[in-house]
Amino acid sequence: MTINTKPPLTGNVDQAELDKFSALAARWWDPKSEFKPLHAINPLRLNWIKNLVGGLEGKTIIDIGCGGGILAESMAAGGANVTGIDLAEKSLKVAKLHGLESGVPVTYRNISAEDMALEQPGQFDIVTCMEMLEHVPDPGSIIRACSTMVKPGGWVFFSTLNRNPKSFLFAIIGAEYILRLLPRGTHSWKSFIRPSELAASARGAGLEPHQMLGMRYNPLTEHYSLGQDTSVNYLMATRK
Ligand code: SAH
Repeated sequence: MTINTKPPLTGNVDQAELDKFSALAARWWDPKSEFKPLHAINPLRLNWIKNLVGGLEGKTIIDIGCGGGILAESMAAGGANVTGIDLAEKSLKVAKLHGLESGVPVTYRNISAEDMALEQPGQFDIVTCMEMLEHVPDPGSIIRACSTMVKPGGWVFFSTLNRNPKSFLFAIIGAEYILRLLPRGTHSWKSFIRPSELAASARGAGLEPHQMLGMRYNPLTEHYSLGQDTSVNYLMATRK
């Protein structure tokens, strides 16, 4: 008889989504792997966050859905006190190991955003939740948890994918089937979130949208850039 010591996850989580990331976890820090796009965009989003908040030094930050810690570690390297949370244990192991190698201290925990919000309400200057909302059954619940965790006047940053015909063509067909930037099945178009939906959900949770930027990929130069075109990938900065 086998005794299953790990109860199935319940709540606002899609186990199949976690499994996709767990299967690739060993490659989180390989810049040529499936995570290449996240490595490529990281300096862009890091600078954007840093400039808006007026520097990361001494800031207390929580990164929701931190994966292998690409963003979390870079914010800690900038002098912030960073906690990264995720529900994929394998990714957290990789994140911790990388932190030991790099010597950049980040606290990693296997806990849901909702539970963390109950445990540490109003404790963070900055909450980041990047490329994660499109992987959960109820993004609104994550957004509310982010709002609960941030201090009054603090910042919450989101990034996700817009939902329209162009994003189907670019983010699914283009990125997964033609350019093969991401493994097929990485994203489900139906789970993409329009900026108006994200803004409404943020406002409903007590977060005021402050700035929105689009992210663009040029397949010829293989460069990513931030700009006004939010039709596919976009980022939104909000304040409590
Ligand atoms: N935020 C990181 C990783 C994005 S990949 C970055 O931008 O670099 C999406 C991450 O969300 C994965 O690590 C996956 O395990 C995590 N995730 C998916 N569903 C989750 C949930 N319900 N709670 C916490 N993390 C989740």
